[in-house]
Amino acid sequence: MADEKRIGIIGLGIMGKPMARNLMTAGYEVAVYDLFPEPVEELVTDGAILATSPADVASKSDLTVIMVQNSPQSMTAILGEDGVVVGADKGQLVVDMSSIAPLISQQIGKELDAAGIDFLDAPVSGGEPGAVAGTLAIMVGGTRAAFDRAAPIFDATGASAVLCGPVGAGGFTKLANQICVAANINGLAEALVLTSKAGLDPETVFNAIKGGLAGSNVMNAKAPMMFARNFQAGFRIELHLKDMNNVMDTAQQMGVPLQMSAQLQQVLQALCNEGNGTDDHAGILKYVEALAKVEVKK
Ligand code: NAD
Repeated sequence: MADEKRIGIIGLGIMGKPMARNLMTAGYEVAVYDLFPEPVEELVTDGAILATSPADVASKSDLTVIMVQNSPQSMTAILGEDGVVVGADKGQLVVDMSSIAPLISQQIGKELDAAGIDFLDAPVSGGEPGAVAGTLAIMVGGTRAAFDRAAPIFDATGASAVLCGPVGAGGFTKLANQICVAANINGLAEALVLTSKAGLDPETVFNAIKGGLAGSNVMNAKAPMMFARNFQAGFRIELHLKDMNNVMDTAQQMGVPLQMSAQLQQVLQALCNEGNGTDDHAGILKYVEALAKVEVKK
């Protein structure tokens, strides 16, 4: 357990609520807040401390974790008029575990630094199952001292935590992760559509290539979902679009052309427009199938 016994958590959605539970199980006093009352009431019934705003969470905590949707929500929760910055004592550590734009994390870090508050950006991979099991992979940006201070929190919520560099490095690493995953799924979808059109059994194709250079964790997780036409999320297409929007906004601000990421962003946007935004991102298959007029079936 950390020297800090009092942990705050703001954002009790799919990820934040089970993370709060894991922190409670690890023995921390956990103060909770969400814009929705239901998850707050549920956790308070189970022993969490009620807070009424992000500022109130920070005033009841030594270390505050943020787990909201995206950059605007993090900005409001941390720097808004009743944000963490209003309630936090000097020297407090704020750990934003949301997946947001890393240039925004750098801005948040600077403003907190000016207020004497330490900051880490620490987005995660592993989804709801990882949040429930406490086995998230955590990518961290900030100082070594702040990372060491947060390490017990990472132990309680994750299976691994890697310090990737200064503030923003966690978010850049998460964007790298999301580019690789989207590209891998789109490549798999094209491979299966082409071979299905050729009359091959897609599962046989998968079994033939999965042990070679093309094999990957993404392929092993998503190919069976495609064969079963099981597009129940998992990781939603609309969330992956949010991340690819952050990839492209960030790349544009930095003058970095990313042609394939731009295309993946358009694919995900088109799937959302078709009403598939809540599907698992294995549903990229549907976009490729629609172009080819071919359905991948076992
Ligand atoms: P979610 O939409 O289920 O939960 C976000 C919660 O934050 C909501 O309950 C919302 O009310 C709350 N919130 C927003 N602004 C707030 C504020 N100012 N004060 C208090 N509460 C506020 O989202 P999620 O699926 O839990 O994802 C959280 C983050 O984790 C996102 O950045 C997401 O990209 C990332 N992530 C999600 C997954 C996944 O599989 N769901 C996997 C890896 C990473």
